[in-house]
Amino acid sequence: MPAVDHPSRPSEDIPVIDKYGLLPLSYYPSPWGRAAVVTRILNQFSIPHIHWGDHVLRYYGADQIIRMVAILIPDEKLTKATQVLVDSGLEHCKCTNVIQHFSHPAYGNDLPAHFCFANGLVYLCTTSMLLDQIPLREGDTNPLDLHIVERVVPLLPGKVVGPMIDSSALKNQSGDAESIDFQTVRFLDPRSITIVYLYMERLLHEGKITRSGIGMPWTAVVSIMAYHIDLDNQILASITNKVLHDDFLQCKPYLASTLS
Ligand SMILES: [Zn+2]
Repeated sequence: MPAVDHPSRPSEDIPVIDKYGLLPLSYYPSPWGRAAVVTRILNQFSIPHIHWGDHVLRYYGADQIIRMVAILIPDEKLTKATQVLVDSGLEHCKCTNVIQHFSHPAYGNDLPAHFCFANGLVYLCTTSMLLDQIPLREGDTNPLDLHIVERVVPLLPGKVVGPMIDSSALKNQSGDAESIDFQTVRFLDPRSITIVYLYMERLLHEGKITRSGIGMPWTAVVSIMAYHIDLDNQILASITNKVLHDDFLQCKPYLASTLS
C-alpha cells in the first residue's frame, strides 16, 4: 500500500462539525481521507460518482505524485456537485492556467471544475468527456465491459490509512473498528483504467476526438499502466480487443520485439 501523508490531529479545541457532519477538511488525512470526504458529501446529494486520478493510480502502484484527485460524475450533476463542494468549504478555482494546473482548453485536456485541495487539486470530470463509456449507475450501458471496485477508506488520522478491501480488514488491523469512521469509495480496476485510456487514445489517434486527456493525457496514463502497474503483463493478456491489445503491447517495447 502506498505511503500516505497525514496531518497531525489538532490538539487544542475539539474541531467544529459542519452541517454535513464533517470536521474541517484539513483534519482528514491526505489524499484518501479527504477524497473520501468528497464522496461522503456527494453521497448526501445522491450524486453517483467514482474516484479517478493520481490517488487511484498511486493506489495501484504507480510512482505518482498525488496532485490531482478527480471525481467522475454524470454531466447533469456538474452544477449541483460544484455547488455542494463549494458549500462544504472547498475553494473553487476558475483559472485556466496551464502552468499551474496542467490543463487548458487549447490543449484539449481542460477540466470542467476544479478546487484547491491539500497540496493539489480536486477536480470534477464528467462521463461525456469519456464518451459515456463509464457505468456510474445501475442500468448504465457498459460497452467496454468495465469493472468498478469498492474499497473502505478510514477517515480519521491514525494507524490505518488509505483504501482497504473491506470493513473486516479494517477491523482486523485497527482492533477497534467502532472508533474509526470510514467511507466506502468506488473506482475502476486497473484493467478497466487501461482499457478506457487505450480506447480514448485510439480515437484521438484516428482523429475521431480532439480531447487529448483529462488533465493528464490519455497516452501518459497508458504509459503509467504499462510501466508501473502491469509488470506481470496480466492486464495485457486480458485485453481481448486486438487493436487495443496491440496498442498496449507497443507501450512495452521489449515485449513487443520478442513477440513480433
Ligand atoms: Zn486553477
